[in-house]
Amino acid sequence: MALIDVGGTLWPNSWPIRKADAGGRRLRIRAAMPGIEPATVEALADDLIESSRPGDEARTISTENLVSINSPAETLITGCLSRSGLPANADTIRRIRRAMSIPVSDRMRPLPGAVELLAAIHDLGMRNVIASNTYWRDADSYWEDFRQLGMAEHVDGIITSVDAGHLKPHPAVFEMAMRWAGVTAERCIVIGNREENDVVPALALGMRTILVYPDDPKPVSSRAHAVVPDLWACAGALRDMLDSHEG
Ligand SMILES: [Mg+2]
Repeated sequence: MALIDVGGTLWPNSWPIRKADAGGRRLRIRAAMPGIEPATVEALADDLIESSRPGDEARTISTENLVSINSPAETLITGCLSRSGLPANADTIRRIRRAMSIPVSDRMRPLPGAVELLAAIHDLGMRNVIASNTYWRDADSYWEDFRQLGMAEHVDGIITSVDAGHLKPHPAVFEMAMRWAGVTAERCIVIGNREENDVVPALALGMRTILVYPDDPKPVSSRAHAVVPDLWACAGALRDMLDSHEG
């Protein structure tokens, strides 16, 4: 099974924001809060959009290391609900988190070779499981994104830090993926662009690793089993890795 990171691996590191995103969020927040006084919902939307601005701006520079940038989405949403005098139950929080997740658009394209890499992994007889640190997105939001990008047919499973409850480098995302697939660590190969978030926790679990840098400077050093500049080279490294493992 291939466990594949997203930001800086399958699509760019940075997440562009535009003015229209706030309008889209407002519409989705209204839809997520039926039966609530419109003025209350508008005040809640103002608060959510304003409170999330620092984190959104940070993610236009890098989607990595979110924990140091902002509090987790649930905390932010709970604060906004309580300031609007609304109860913060798990279902409401989940609906608002999905409403705040900005869908991929025509601006966001997969990195070169991303679709081909996923197809190549399938050709090798391996499963593709997304293992990603996210802020607003859960697996359902991501499925929508991958469908829009024409990548969903090559994705077998999606595990996000929102679903696993911890951000990488915590092992929860990889552990949840192993449970989902019913495989041991020796049968997993992690593909990602960050030594500390992808390679280090994977090695600690006994997984093999490929560090890719299609959207990053060349790493100075890495403990990964292979280090490759682009996603075509990643497919090649994966083939070599399976050959040597079997032979
Ligand atoms: Mg990444």
